[in-house]
Amino acid sequence: ITILAIESSCDDTSAAVIRDQVLLSNIIANQDVHQKYGGVIPELASRAHQQNIIPVVHRALEVANVGVGEVDAIAFTNGPGLLGSLLVGTSFAKGLSISLNVPLVEVNHLQGHILAHFIQKPGEEPNHPQFPFLCLLVSGGHSQIVVVRGPLEMEIIGQTLDDAAGEAFDKCAKVMGLPYPGGPFIDKLAAEGNPKAFKFAKPQIPELNYSFSGLKTSFLYFLRDRVAENPNFIEENKADLCASIQHTIIAVLMDKFVKATKLTGIREIAVAGGVSANSGLRSTLVEEGKKRKWKVFIPEFGYTTDNAAMIGITGYFKYLNGERTSLDVAPVTRIKM
Ligand code: ATP
Ligand code: FE
Repeated sequence: ITILAIESSCDDTSAAVIRDQVLLSNIIANQDVHQKYGGVIPELASRAHQQNIIPVVHRALEVANVGVGEVDAIAFTNGPGLLGSLLVGTSFAKGLSISLNVPLVEVNHLQGHILAHFIQKPGEEPNHPQFPFLCLLVSGGHSQIVVVRGPLEMEIIGQTLDDAAGEAFDKCAKVMGLPYPGGPFIDKLAAEGNPKAFKFAKPQIPELNYSFSGLKTSFLYFLRDRVAENPNFIEENKADLCASIQHTIIAVLMDKFVKATKLTGIREIAVAGGVSANSGLRSTLVEEGKKRKWKVFIPEFGYTTDNAAMIGITGYFKYLNGERTSLDVAPVTRIKM
């Protein structure tokens, strides 16, 4: 089965070709128009998708060495995400499905992040978590603890009540004057800093849920007070600030995640989403995994942030399951798994 996948939920336009779980191509066009605004501007994102979508799909087929006639189905992200962005991918997928006379398969972007673990590379042995596994899904818009019982059987047992972990990284980076998105910059600077240099209060939230908005605010107030005393405070302490805020975010994430492993008894562990690129989070999971006898799966860097390969693998599982999407489908900006 050959699947052409399209992802356009936020600010990356991506297309991929997957054949029976094996990834043949994965093309991503990043949009740098947003950088100077310090965040994604939805209208600009839609316009950039519009410009990128044809060349990106074209390139994905070319790299995969697959002709359009060989495509069995088109998988596309139908949410969650920005409406204008989703519309570009959805409309393109519909048009192509009509012209090629092949079925459409809609994909939930968040399921995609999780199922990225099942992408196989040509010539490589499969290496993925066994069901049921527990996934820490940490991205720009979501922070969830998910019990994954099967490719299409997922249950959210904890999630953020306000900001996502990625948002916390990005907002803290912004107040330090770092570029957008700030997560990768904090990660890099944190490597040279002391994670215990500054202490920030951790949120007290019931059950397996998260909250990051208070942390962001306390970071902002802390900086405001210090900068009032010393205008160069941020510059002089940047690495320590990055290391400390990263350390705090990871501690918050791990606290509930460990609790979830105890409650469920699941030791097969995966992490997914953009924040799973964070080196501190990766090493913490590996260390905790050794200590707690978990089997830990960490995605390749290329599959952490948004990409169409993850949409393709999810589309593949749904296709096998007989799922097809009709042409009257509309994108949904917020959807549950
Ligand atoms: P969602 O998937 O929830 O709809 P999204 O698609 O915008 O949101 P992703 O692309 O999965 O989110 O992830 C982007 C987020 O990952 C950003 O907040 C970014 O700062 C964060 N991120 C990427 N790399 C790192 C890193 N090395 N350390 C920390 N955060 C990172
Ligand atoms: Fe995403």
